[in-house]
Amino acid sequence: MASNKRSARAKQRAEFESGFDAGAMGDLFEREHARNDALEAAHDAAVRRRACESKMRYASRADALDAIAACAEHGRRGLSVYRCPYCNGWHLTSHPRKP
Ligand SMILES: [Zn+2]
Repeated sequence: MASNKRSARAKQRAEFESGFDAGAMGDLFEREHARNDALEAAHDAAVRRRACESKMRYASRADALDAIAACAEHGRRGLSVYRCPYCNGWHLTSHPRKP
């Protein structure tokens, strides 16, 4: 008797959980999608901040190269310049790899 009750409860719970999972999945995907959009926007903003807004901006490549030369005088080496796709200016970046 006791074991019957237990298995009935287990069955009930299994049905509940499978129903719950099936129902939750669609909702989960929906939420995951919205979350990814938000994450992507936040990621873009973070990339932009790191690659552009947080950096010194130079109007020309020559200005940026001058800045690199100045840094090198202070012992800061391994920098290079790149054209910024966000502001069309020039920024410095450090190369993690050795040339
Ligand atoms: Zn920029």
